Order: sequence, then structure tokens, then C-alpha cells
Amino acid sequence: MLRIEHLGIAVKDLAGSNDLFAKLLGELPYKTETVESEKVSTSFFKIGESKIELLQASNPDSAIAKFIEKRGEGIHHIAFEVENIENEIQRLLAEGFQPTGSSTQPFKGADNKLVFFFHPKTTNGVLIELCQEIK
Ligand code: ZN
Repeated sequence: MLRIEHLGIAVKDLAGSNDLFAKLLGELPYKTETVESEKVSTSFFKIGESKIELLQASNPDSAIAKFIEKRGEGIHHIAFEVENIENEIQRLLAEGFQPTGSSTQPFKGADNKLVFFFHPKTTNGVLIELCQEIK
């Protein structure tokens, strides 16, 4: 693992939260992006070498909608940047961590990244994202 690439925060109202975090961080988001496959609208803020990702459900059956229903708004996941996502997935599977879905292949996420998620039930309640920049 190279570093914490970003923290993901689940929000109900992306536009309102963009304003809030712009005030908090003193900077505007550098991008907003909807990921259809994940049914989320996202925005990204840069803070030094890390980022904050805000996530709003773009569909009521999105995982973000379910998360907010259960736990309310708040920190949704920690994303670690890795050098070789396939190798890291295999390493963590061998260690007994469980993926969120049935696939063990990374997929295209927001912000030009290959991503993969490990289920919070095997990681002390915190959803873990691995991400690798697509070059
Ligand atoms: Zn993320």
C-alpha cells in the first residue's frame, strides 16, 4: 500500500455538501463525476497528497442510499492507493478478507482509477477500497 489516497464520505445532498466542504477546506472540488455502474454522483477535493470524495446516491437502490439509511451521513470508506491492484487483491484474499461482491477483479471507478472493495465485516466495520491510477 502506498498511501491513503482518499476518504469517501456519504452525503445526502452533493451540491450542498460541495458548498460545505469548499468552505471547510477553502477550495472548490476539482472534479465531479457520476459513476453509472455504482449509481453514485461524486466530487473530489484535494488536500495535500490526499483527497476527500463526497458520494451521493444517484439511484435509491445504490449502496450509498442503503448506507445512509442505516448509518446516516458520514465516512463511508478509506481508499488505499496501491501499485499493483491485482497483486494486492490476491494478497488480501489469501489473508481472508472478503470482497463486497462475487468478483475478484478490479473495475473502473471514479477519478480515472481501477478500484476494488473489501467488505467492512472483515475489516473492523470500515469499507476498504484499493485503487490504482489508470495510466
Ligand atoms: Zn472512493
